[in-house]
Amino acid sequence: MENKLNSISLATLHRLPKYLRILKSTTDDTISSTKIAEELNLSAIQVRKDLATVSKSEGKPKIGFEVKDLISDIEEYLNLNKSKDIIVVGAGRLGQALMNYTGFENDVNIKFAFDVDRKKCDNKKIFHNDRLDELVMKNNIHVAIITVPRDEAQKMCDNLVSLGIKAIWNFAPVNLKVPSDITIRNEDLSASLAVLLNRLNIK
Ligand code: NAD
Repeated sequence: MENKLNSISLATLHRLPKYLRILKSTTDDTISSTKIAEELNLSAIQVRKDLATVSKSEGKPKIGFEVKDLISDIEEYLNLNKSKDIIVVGAGRLGQALMNYTGFENDVNIKFAFDVDRKKCDNKKIFHNDRLDELVMKNNIHVAIITVPRDEAQKMCDNLVSLGIKAIWNFAPVNLKVPSDITIRNEDLSASLAVLLNRLNIK
C-alpha cells in the first residue's frame, strides 16, 4: 500500500499484520520485542524499529510493551479499526476463494462480487457487471480486488477508479496503471514462488 502508508517501508508494512497476529494470540498483558522477534525469526532491533514507526508506546525494560496499546496503534495505522466493505471483480476460482476466506483482519468484509458470467451470479452476493456502478456508488465502496483475466484487468481498473475506488488489490498478472492518488498492490504468487525456489538454489 503506497500513499497514506508510504512514510514507512513496504517491508515494515508487511510485518505489521504479523505483529498484530502475535499480539492478538497472546494472553499476556505485556510482550517483549524479543518474544515477537523470536516468533517471526527477526531481530529484536528490527521489531522495535518497526513498532516505533507506528506507535508511541515505549517498551519498558524487562516488561515489554502493553499488548492492548500496540494492537490499537497498529490497527489504527492500518485503518483496520474502521469498517471496510470491499468488492471482488471476477467471481471465478480465485475470486470465490477470496470471498470464502474468513481470515481477513477485523471488519474487512467482501460485500459483493461481480462477474460477466450470469451463471455465476446469485444476485445476493455475486452480481452481473451491469450492477457494478450502481452498487459501488450506493454503498460508498472504496476498495476492490481484481481477479479477472489479464486482458480485462486494465479496463476494469480504469472503470473502478472512475467509480471512486481508492485502493485496489490486483491478482491479474499485469501491472495496472493507476493515477497517483490510488493505492495499488499487485499480487504475484509465481514471483513469491520464484524467490523461494531461488533461495533453495533450485534452477
Ligand atoms: P477464472 O477463469 O476462474 O475466473 C475469472 C473470472 O473473471 C470468471 O468468472 C470470468 O467470468 C470473470 N470475468 C472475465 N471478464 C470479466 C470482466 N470484465 N468483469 C468481471 N468478471 C469478468 O480465473 P482464476 O483462476 O480465478 O484467475 C483469475 C485471475 O487471477 C486471472 O487473471 C489469473 O491469472 C489471476 N491469478 C493470479 C494469481 C496470483 O498469484 N496473483 C493466482 C491465480 C490466479
